[in-house]
Amino acid sequence: MVVAENVHKSFGRLPVLRGIDLEVRRNEVMCVVGPSGSGKSTFLRCVNHLEKLTAGRLWVGGELMGYRQKGDKLYELRENQVAAQRSVIGMVFQNFNLFPHMSVLGNVIEAPIQVQRERRQEARTRALELLDRVGLADKAESYPRQLSGGQQQRVAIARALAMRPELMLFDEPTSSLDPELVGDVLDVMRDLAREGMTMIVVTHEMGFAREVSDSLVFMDEGVVVESGQPRTVLSAPQHERTREFLSKVF
Ligand code: ATP
Ligand code: MG
Repeated sequence: MVVAENVHKSFGRLPVLRGIDLEVRRNEVMCVVGPSGSGKSTFLRCVNHLEKLTAGRLWVGGELMGYRQKGDKLYELRENQVAAQRSVIGMVFQNFNLFPHMSVLGNVIEAPIQVQRERRQEARTRALELLDRVGLADKAESYPRQLSGGQQQRVAIARALAMRPELMLFDEPTSSLDPELVGDVLDVMRDLAREGMTMIVVTHEMGFAREVSDSLVFMDEGVVVESGQPRTVLSAPQHERTREFLSKVF
């Protein structure tokens, strides 16, 4: 579903990703951990082509992101073509990014109606199902500011799911939540994984990574230092940098 091949990304002269090779199969969950500044968010942004790679290639669902290949030449896609590629990818951020002036229901139906041209009634019915699924059926008419952080994050997940993504990217979805609100969000993510959603999750929740993910990647300074089955990486890390990092987060 996602293949990254020698992905490099620099900002000006600052190299941030320095040759990332990764593969996430359909229906699998990959968790990405690593110290602040190691390039985790940048990598996620490269996956949906919010950042252009400096070198390397990245495929999602078999499509080369951002380019069309003809012979051995690459041609940049137009913005609307990139948007079409992106439409199979849902993204959830640390800070929810809900539309503050719209109700919960409004947040969930906005993109299906505006982008996918769904009929209002259908979008509404589906949004209510999704809100039910994340445990917020009774909050449809509320506004984001009336919700807890954990509830807002679950709305953000429902909003992403409303676009029928094939791949979900999560960037530290529970990092800004009070500890008692983290569990509900992780439960929703765990259900999603069980239903077969392909996911890349940047997180510091090692319990979640251990239980839910099929592979765990440790990144540092723009490279994958170590990756493998979560149990193996967590219980028997091979590299000193991994050991050092894990000793800090546990
Ligand atoms: P954190 O755990 O703190 O979220 P991260 O692993 O997600 O860290 P990134 O946000 O990917 O790290 O940032 C990696 C490096 O790239 C940092 O040094 C950051 O300052 C730099 N960086 C990220 N985005 C930009 C940008 N748009 N312009 C310049 N530098 C950037
Ligand atoms: Mg980040």
